Amino acid sequence: MSKSPIWHPFTQHGLEEPIPLVERTEGAILHTNDGRRIIDAISSWWVNTHGHGNPRIMAAIAEQTKKLDQIIFAGWTHQPAEDLAKELRQIMPDTLTRVFFSDSGSTSVEVALKMALGYWHAQDEPRHTIVVMEHSYHGDTIGAMSVGERGVFNQAYRELLFDVVTVPFPHVGQEQATFNALEKACANNAAAFIVEPLVLGAGGMLMYPPHVLAEMHRICTKHGVLFLADEVMTGWGRTGTLLACEQADITPDILCLSKGLTGGAIPLAVTMASEPIYQAHYSTDRACMFFHSSSYTANPIACAAAVANLAIWRDEPVADRIAALADMHEQAMTKLQNVPGISGVRRCGTILACEIGDGRSYMADIAPRLLAYFRERDMLVRPLGNTVYLMPPYCITPDDHAALVTAIADAPAALRII
Ligand SMILES: *Cc1c(COP(=O)(O)O)cnc(C)c1O
Repeated sequence: MSKSPIWHPFTQHGLEEPIPLVERTEGAILHTNDGRRIIDAISSWWVNTHGHGNPRIMAAIAEQTKKLDQIIFAGWTHQPAEDLAKELRQIMPDTLTRVFFSDSGSTSVEVALKMALGYWHAQDEPRHTIVVMEHSYHGDTIGAMSVGERGVFNQAYRELLFDVVTVPFPHVGQEQATFNALEKACANNAAAFIVEPLVLGAGGMLMYPPHVLAEMHRICTKHGVLFLADEVMTGWGRTGTLLACEQADITPDILCLSKGLTGGAIPLAVTMASEPIYQAHYSTDRACMFFHSSSYTANPIACAAAVANLAIWRDEPVADRIAALADMHEQAMTKLQNVPGISGVRRCGTILACEIGDGRSYMADIAPRLLAYFRERDMLVRPLGNTVYLMPPYCITPDDHAALVTAIADAPAALRII
């Protein structure tokens, strides 16, 4: 039995894999207590954008701790939340007029689903069906699992998950099948469609182009079906633009943001909603209010971190950093495309992905071998099945990036799969 009482997430303790202890972080690097320098190729599970230990964000947190800790947010407010909501209104799409706070991506999705269903409830229209996309991931709470891909992750809870209508992933050349399925579901009085714009993250970094996103939005709008964009992973520059939705020139009715909202320093999430969604819950009748809260809603310290993140977006050349990383990825693609044993090399913004060997399954035998391979090289790369991807903080150096690409290129031969 291991000495630590900690039960880690998404970890099979029975395999007794090593669990390194990280003491210090800096930029794209994690420093362990045994002196290793680990390149964080996945932004510590997609949360970190500007690099670990960003001085402006950490200073904002330190400053805020001197003034105000958690306070109740039902019927009370504070300046960091007010500032953040106002600034989000300025940089997010105009029609998203309302900001609801919570603490994780999963919760922001639960909130979005409840807002959408509350909207239809208030209209007295019997719309209850949520439409989802095949291979989606929206979080690990019961509602978020219900709208995500069913599989080994949620087998044990299957009976509890609510029914949804699933449209196929729009593989190249098969987009029409997705549109037809969506059209049919929408025409059948669906309440909402929830989707990860442009990139399905946990589903295997599956990418589809902006025109497909635009067409799906058009179909939903035509049938009055609410469009819920889960930008928990894709937001904050990951796909090359602040939001992935921008590239399709669409505005969702409800938008979920978390991960990069605080630059990855501290947990926080928001669900932004359009005015009609808010108005559906606005009344003199207390029974019509939006019945949702987390104890730590709008934690002031987390809000201050997010305000600092927005300041970085406002006055630092973040777009240039993203473009520089995209360039490095683009050059890496040329290299990886010619490596036997590597296929499906693709990129969207700051996300580079490919498959090593074959057999696309999260439980693929190669996954733990790949994980160990990168760990031995002091690289935090966490394959999704045999899908390997790079999604580093925007400040990664060309040298560290090149080392990661070389390790990926060498993997098929090192693991003897070619
Ligand atoms: C990570 C993720 C979530 C869940 O966020 P948590 O903060 O881990 O609860 C939801 N949706 C998408 C698209 C994600 O990538």
